Amino acid sequence: MAEATVNLNDLHFAGDDRVVPFQVEGLDVRGRAVQLGPLLNTILGRHEYPGPVARLLAEAIVLTALLGTSLKFDGKFTVQTKGDGPVDLLVADFSTPDSLRAYARYDEDALADAIKDGRTSPPELLGQGVLAFTIDQGRGMQPYQGIVPLDGSSLEEIAGVYFRQSEQIPTKVRLGVAELFDRDAEGKPRHNWRAGGLVAQFLPQAPERMRQPDLHGGDGDERDTEVIDDAWNEARSLVETIDTDELTDPQVAIERLLFRLFHERGVRVYAPQTVHDRCSCSRDKIKSVLNGFTAEEIEASQEDGHIAVTCEFCSTTYHYEVAEFAAA
Ligand SMILES: [Zn+2]
Repeated sequence: MAEATVNLNDLHFAGDDRVVPFQVEGLDVRGRAVQLGPLLNTILGRHEYPGPVARLLAEAIVLTALLGTSLKFDGKFTVQTKGDGPVDLLVADFSTPDSLRAYARYDEDALADAIKDGRTSPPELLGQGVLAFTIDQGRGMQPYQGIVPLDGSSLEEIAGVYFRQSEQIPTKVRLGVAELFDRDAEGKPRHNWRAGGLVAQFLPQAPERMRQPDLHGGDGDERDTEVIDDAWNEARSLVETIDTDELTDPQVAIERLLFRLFHERGVRVYAPQTVHDRCSCSRDKIKSVLNGFTAEEIEASQEDGHIAVTCEFCSTTYHYEVAEFAAA
């Protein structure tokens, strides 16, 4: 058994909103882990979503931070759900090198009914539908999209299934969200959102060790098809021991969690990648969309000669005059 290669207590911790890549050589596992604090609190606070919607979007944001920061080229990574539940749309995207944004769309009446009936688990809010991962390299290249059904499982389960089935990479994902109530420096009550997550993937040198039984058998519950390998089974079991509290506790640095899980196998952490709350919208970009509108559509969008467009991601409102489009 390998000795621990790094004493994490000697390191400076990455802190909030910084994704920490890690590797466990003894188990052929690579992954990423993060705790989100200010970034999450800012995005969710801006939209003032009801609690259950905020929690759900927070999970999508953590997933996006974990997966988006693994892009090896300039581009955009998007996580999007579309379902028939009260929260019919979640969108979170990460643009290289470090920008993340997100929003949720929900039906107020359906959500109120769901809350009244206590049907507020993530699967109940999302309903049946699809989860899509999109990687867009821009520059006229065709985006790559992977789709997996929303089938009543949690987002972390669905993400794991996606990687096992579509990418053929044994993957375990954990996501956690918490609301923190404390007091600020002046003693006023304060409420903060926090979240954390970890993705671990089995990437052995010898590809035959990744073979999964019954992958294409289609014989029922595909969730049970998992690679048969002692190292991966050990890693998976360790990841399953993570409590939501550990993922979100500001007192438990994510490196400490990694150390707790994997120190016997030698866990190595790499330079963290900071994630910022930043939207890519601009007056010009929205204007170019309006430029594509017909005269009738412009007419329908205007009020007293003005057109106001609010970005769904960052809530910035841009103002235009109809006259700007009259020549188009
Ligand atoms: Zn925006």
